[in-house]
Amino acid sequence: MALSEFEIIRRFFTSRARSAVLGVGDDAAIVRARRGIDLVVTTDLLVGGRHFRRNADPRHIGHKALAVNLSDIAAMGGKPRWATLALAVPRSDARWLAAFSRGFMRLARRHGVDLIGGDTTRGPLAICVQVIGEVPAGRALRRDGARPGDDVWVSGQIGGAGLVLAAAAGKVALSARQRARLEPRLHLPTPRIGLGIALRGIARSAIDISDGLVADLGHVCERSGVAAVVELARIPCSGAMRRHLSRAAVRTALLAGGDDYELAFTARRGERERIARVSRRQRLPLTRIGRIVPTRRGAAQVTVVDRDGRALTLKQTGFDHFG
Ligand code: ADP
Ligand code: MG
Repeated sequence: MALSEFEIIRRFFTSRARSAVLGVGDDAAIVRARRGIDLVVTTDLLVGGRHFRRNADPRHIGHKALAVNLSDIAAMGGKPRWATLALAVPRSDARWLAAFSRGFMRLARRHGVDLIGGDTTRGPLAICVQVIGEVPAGRALRRDGARPGDDVWVSGQIGGAGLVLAAAAGKVALSARQRARLEPRLHLPTPRIGLGIALRGIARSAIDISDGLVADLGHVCERSGVAAVVELARIPCSGAMRRHLSRAAVRTALLAGGDDYELAFTARRGERERIARVSRRQRLPLTRIGRIVPTRRGAAQVTVVDRDGRALTLKQTGFDHFG
């Protein structure tokens, strides 16, 4: 059934925006800035055939379009409040839109985010989401605060999403059970909002590792003017992954897989106990994987070492659309 642009907006993208002064339906939305609060703003553009398969489950697409933005807010230590959604779809397919909207709205509700506006047009499938979050003034987590001596931490288990991608490309073989267990990591990632908020005042720098651990840690080093040493054996991944895959495949998935939406952060050594408490409260493993060191001329920004402290050479460090 074909729907008009206005029916699409009304049926699938209009909800009561409790936290906005004015939501969907006018020329623009209105939100009220509060004293002592910084706004954290992020946007991500997902293009069909590039960031997801055009025939992917629309519920997954809706979830992920919002999740990748929430992950950026998490990395800033923000509490997400409002989202806008600009959507280009090739045709007004009510079933597709209903599933897409369900995936998007469920995740939005779970995090108390109101969809307050957007744009809807016919065109090649593309989704642009913007999220605005709040953080107490001056307390956002940034990329530029890492200092030599900091520990480097990572949340959750990493490499899972990259493995599913590698399997889809025929580069590694996964059993049906492994696929079933790992696929949600790629299609329905959990943004680490609670963690980001809990790390305010504890982490000195943070980033979400959507492009691969080494590449993203490299961004922290770049912005902070430091270098990092990461121990491969400490990087948390599932036992099944280590058992079933070649060491080279595990290494690639861990270091350069991308799409994991976990947080990497740095903190002073003295924060180890508080971080262990955050981990228990968030019910999320937080693992110390390395340390921040001063930059040295000619040395890589991120060095990955084996058990004996020997530096590994990395062929692939992350995802780059223009690389
Ligand atoms: P305008 O032509 O002034 O841009 P539109 O007709 O595009 O207005 O949009 C009407 C209202 O619907 C606006 O409040 C807009 O923010 C909202 N809107 C449009 N598309 C979406 C969408 N996909 N999700 C949420 N809100 C939307
Ligand atoms: Mg418009």
